[in-house]
Amino acid sequence: FDALQQQDPEIAGVVLDELERLRGGLQLIASENLTSPAVLAALGSTLSNKYAEGYPGRRYYGGCQVVDVAEEIGNARTKELFGAEHANLQPHSGASANLAAYAAFAKPGDTVLAMDLKQGGHLTHGSKVNFSGLWFDAVSYTVRQDTELIDYDQVRDLALQHRPKIIICGATAYPRLIDFALFREIADEVDAKLMVDAAHFIGLVAGKAIPSPVPFADVVTATTHKVLRGPRGGMVLCRAEHAKAIDKAVFPFSQGGPLMHAVAAKAVAMREAAQPEYQKYATQVIANAQALAKGLEAEGMRAVSGGTDTHLALIDLRPIGVTGAEAEARCDAARITLNKNAIPYDPAPPMKPSGIRVGSPASTTQGMVETDMAEVASLLARAVKAPQGTPAGDAELREVADAVSTLVARVPAYPRG
Ligand code: PLP
Repeated sequence: FDALQQQDPEIAGVVLDELERLRGGLQLIASENLTSPAVLAALGSTLSNKYAEGYPGRRYYGGCQVVDVAEEIGNARTKELFGAEHANLQPHSGASANLAAYAAFAKPGDTVLAMDLKQGGHLTHGSKVNFSGLWFDAVSYTVRQDTELIDYDQVRDLALQHRPKIIICGATAYPRLIDFALFREIADEVDAKLMVDAAHFIGLVAGKAIPSPVPFADVVTATTHKVLRGPRGGMVLCRAEHAKAIDKAVFPFSQGGPLMHAVAAKAVAMREAAQPEYQKYATQVIANAQALAKGLEAEGMRAVSGGTDTHLALIDLRPIGVTGAEAEARCDAARITLNKNAIPYDPAPPMKPSGIRVGSPASTTQGMVETDMAEVASLLARAVKAPQGTPAGDAELREVADAVSTLVARVPAYPRG
């Protein structure tokens, strides 16, 4: 960092500003976490220099003997951690991992069945602005209006009607456990491949806090930077019979050279996730998300589906008459970072949705427990209810920001020294 400061104080300043932002506020974005210094060290290493197209022992460049070791260790740790027959750590992101999984099992024009984006699915699950919706005939399933849980009867009906090549489960904003066995059963009925996009919850699986999709899925795709607490990136786990197809779909089909510094950092994260402390962490993440959801309900908001089994809760703000966009802006002013989010069957437009999504991965990494989350809920509620732009509202937001600083100082992110 000294070199950066000397050579490029402008960018060094940005890095320090971001560190201070993390230290001074509450991070409640469900898809973010605070990686360890060890992961950051691998990311900021000379492994970033190396071209290594191909796979260990089968590269298109010389000089790969050293980086091969990193990838082999990473693959072995990943397979062991998840009990998977094959792992590929090269995808640059979760979206790249998904592209590879589609490419391995379907051709453009084929039908895929996945969760509706408006109800919690991801862009790569069939959105018209994404390859998944443009190149594939994407059919969407939804949650039930009464329970806000996945409508498995509808999934089966749509599968029988459309005979998709791939059925996808896993979402971006779904707080409940997914019945992988039932998805497997439906996929088998129509001879489809089952792809579980575990981007959000793979870390909870690693920590043995929720059931694993690995025994049920043909392929599991994931990000490595959410609850899993690794570097920003993607990965694919699959059965041995699909290993060749998946590897070819990652490279050379959808990517060139892997980011070897990121692959090494993923290996570091896998080792961290295999420790007993990480299992405690994963369990605490869920307890914290549940405490937060409960706290927000006590403040008059509504947790979609009545709560959460995971690291995130989807909060309907209509009972308190605030939009998701207003809540996001007010929380930002109070040093609470979260995102606005549509709720299932949201009558409001996407840029002003009725809800927010909150998550506990980062705050739990800092060391917060349920009692802290009760305090977080009460500060968040104060912020969300403060009419920004009025003298009283702005004063309230300043007070909440100060209280947030005091709260996070008890369990600092990246403690000084
Ligand atoms: N799949 C799901 C379910 C996600 O939630 C996300 C990102 O949030 C992705 C895929 C894509 O990951 P990335 O942003 O790394 O491309």
